[in-house]
Amino acid sequence: MLVRDFKVSDGLRYTSDFLDLLPDKCLDERCQSPTEMTEILTSLRCSNPRCPTKIAQRVIAIMSMLGVKDFGPARANSFVSKFGVKNPLAVFGYVPSDDGAIGEGVNIDISTRIYDQIQSKKSFTLWEYVRVANLPFIQTSALHLFGDFDSIEEAYAKLEAGGIGYIKNKLNIKKSTPVKQQFADIDVEPEDISIRALKIYESLVAFKSDLYWGIQFVDIIPTHKEGMVTLRAVCSDQVGTPFKTKADFYATVNNLYKDMHVEFLSSVTKSIDYLVWAGASESDARVTNKVMKVRSYNETYKERTASGKATQEEHEIPIISASMFLGILQDITKRKGG
Ligand SMILES: [Zn+2]
Repeated sequence: MLVRDFKVSDGLRYTSDFLDLLPDKCLDERCQSPTEMTEILTSLRCSNPRCPTKIAQRVIAIMSMLGVKDFGPARANSFVSKFGVKNPLAVFGYVPSDDGAIGEGVNIDISTRIYDQIQSKKSFTLWEYVRVANLPFIQTSALHLFGDFDSIEEAYAKLEAGGIGYIKNKLNIKKSTPVKQQFADIDVEPEDISIRALKIYESLVAFKSDLYWGIQFVDIIPTHKEGMVTLRAVCSDQVGTPFKTKADFYATVNNLYKDMHVEFLSSVTKSIDYLVWAGASESDARVTNKVMKVRSYNETYKERTASGKATQEEHEIPIISASMFLGILQDITKRKGG
């Protein structure tokens, strides 16, 4: 409910000192929309889905997923103010030679460096593109809802025809994924699958035009096209030199080859193709749970192979460093080419 309505309906239960602390309007000067809160006082937020503060937060989230350096909260807010950004995907359409600096007080050299980084990291599969948009309530559900499509029009046609029931079905398939992980989003965490499906649906409808508009500025990798190689990998802790962050590694890998795509998953299962870990080439890397899990999978696999029990689907999962992984991708491309 809106905070100003709350003060009328529930005001008698609280002291006026406390009520005075609750702002009626968004504290962002650029917005000043009414604030809203949950009835049990667990959260208070701006009611405007396009509040400049929220847009700036999503811009920051996009830049951090891409591993873009030199772009923190101050620059994100300045970018939003300067261009009146209502859709965070506008970062992909920014061109310094046409638009000038990326924000007030940022010089053109830094702006160009930021632009160059974005340009080198704007290839995505459709579901990754939806995930990177950082829409409310849509993070890991992007894979389940968009993973079967290369075309946003086709994906939306299915979503709109099937509605909330369709989303529920798609999410139910992945029941085992912890809710917390599914909803590592900016907003609240609905615990019920129907409410989650509803929130996801509303968000996808509300931001449909954002996704449609932004897609012109990025390259969508068609994973369902013939001849496309898809690998599944998990990264553990640090991936190894020369990559400082996982985000940097992800974006680099998926911008190297047109007909190869690596799905980076967050948790280890027996079906992944590789585990990328700095420790495969550097002795001081921490042995993580993921590494121990894959090692034990590999032990089991060896035993099962020795006793002739291993099935076709079972395989050893190589544990390799980032640079070894890049070498493997290069080999696969060469083999395909020759
Ligand atoms: Zn606001």
